[in-house]
Amino acid sequence: GGFLPFEHAPYFNFAQPEVAQLQRAAFQQVREKYVGQRFPLYIGGERVEGGDTFAVHNPADTRETVWHFPKATAQQLEEAISGAQAAFESWRFSDPLQRATIFKRAADLLRARRMEFNAVMTLENGKNWPEADGEVAESVDHFEVFARETLRWAAGKPVYPMPDEHVTTVYEPIGVVACISPWNFPSAIPLGMALGAIAAGNTVIWKPASETPLSSLLMVELLYEAGLPRGVIQFITGTDDVLGDPLVDHKDIRMVAFTGSREIGCRIFERAAKVQPGQKWLKRVMAEMGGKDPTVVCHDADLEAAAVGIVQSTFGYAGQKCSACSRVIAEDSIYDELLARVRVLASEVKVGLPEDNAPLGPVISAGSAERIMKYVENGKKTARLVLGGERAELGDCQGGYVQPTIFADVESTDPLFQEEIFGPVLAFTRARDWRHAIELANDSEYGLTAAFFSRDPYKLAEARRLMQVGNLYLNRKCTGALSGTHAFGGYGMSGTNAKVGGPDYLFWFLQTKTVAQRY
Ligand code: GLU
Repeated sequence: GGFLPFEHAPYFNFAQPEVAQLQRAAFQQVREKYVGQRFPLYIGGERVEGGDTFAVHNPADTRETVWHFPKATAQQLEEAISGAQAAFESWRFSDPLQRATIFKRAADLLRARRMEFNAVMTLENGKNWPEADGEVAESVDHFEVFARETLRWAAGKPVYPMPDEHVTTVYEPIGVVACISPWNFPSAIPLGMALGAIAAGNTVIWKPASETPLSSLLMVELLYEAGLPRGVIQFITGTDDVLGDPLVDHKDIRMVAFTGSREIGCRIFERAAKVQPGQKWLKRVMAEMGGKDPTVVCHDADLEAAAVGIVQSTFGYAGQKCSACSRVIAEDSIYDELLARVRVLASEVKVGLPEDNAPLGPVISAGSAERIMKYVENGKKTARLVLGGERAELGDCQGGYVQPTIFADVESTDPLFQEEIFGPVLAFTRARDWRHAIELANDSEYGLTAAFFSRDPYKLAEARRLMQVGNLYLNRKCTGALSGTHAFGGYGMSGTNAKVGGPDYLFWFLQTKTVAQRY
């Protein structure tokens, strides 16, 4: 029995002309198949059409409307929650092997359609090809990992025996889980949360970000096609006045699984603590929030490897990952040389269209670009600008393009050092020595990822011990956690440290039953 040994899905090599050609063709097919369409909700196992809609725009040029999604009504939210409750009564007792088999089938279906999924994501959130491909590959991995985790948790855990009793510890599902997800990983993040819920036997209200609903819907439909009973996932899109607080506050929601901003995460955490009339449990909240992720570079490090890792993790997807590097903390003796190397590499990160696979695309919206530019303008007064610092123009495209930007000599009290900017902006800070560098790295309310570069085994061991983050990467970049291997989630105000893709993730979605039977 059992599944074959796990392997991570390989990435496409777009440097090969025939592979690039296939991705280009996929954009054309996606435009023909989806652009201008109006998509449904799924409630209580039914496809629901009609009603008001909202438009989704291509962030590369917001004059282009790509597709439309429904604005769910308060009544539809009620129906979705009662649909999820009804489906829970059978799904909770479903056979774990059948759940796992559905995930395996979904993995196969997705492997066959990766380039299509990549193209849809690029049109919704502006990822370039390898960034979109990395996320869709992560989604394949999630299916494979959760298939295995389903079976592992179904086996229960051993307990210390008693002479006159048979005792078991087993895990049971908890109920309806609201999954609320962000636009920056519109496939892999909601999928990770939803698979956690349904692998455990729960049912789901899946509320994607309004910027990126199709990347999410395609995943949901893929699961239906793989055999998931439709009522197990309710897919609803719309506005926050209907799907924000009312969803979180609802008495029949058992758990909220959220990934997104710190502001909203804290709001959900507070609101979910209130026991509503008729509510029969204390709600669980998983809230994965932001980061202000440092890369520490010691004088004995491979400086070129550090510079490459810094540039990839800072400017990949325009810095719009909670895992993105946004602070470099370098020892005094190599600070200037490292800064020079990073500056050279970063100046090669050219702004362009994500659909043409440019290294640096738009940020998600004009509003986001404006917010980023406020930090940049302020930084020009408080620190030394060494690269970028301006918006970028791309023909007459209306998109939030920002040049790769680097500030040097940033003080640890500066907003550039303390606040999550979510854009292509990097702060360099000088440390007296490597211990001071670790102190500076830890000087943050966040604690999601960090990278640490050194060739000295003692320093590496000290970094392991002292760095206060959920994901610490030694001698490599701090983005690109792989499902099943780099369990992902942070310390401090980065959130609840749920560690998606890790060995303990399903526990979040389960309750534990001890059964003792006297012989
Ligand atoms: N898991 C992703 C990574 O390791 C980041 C997810 C996020 O930014 O929300 O790069």
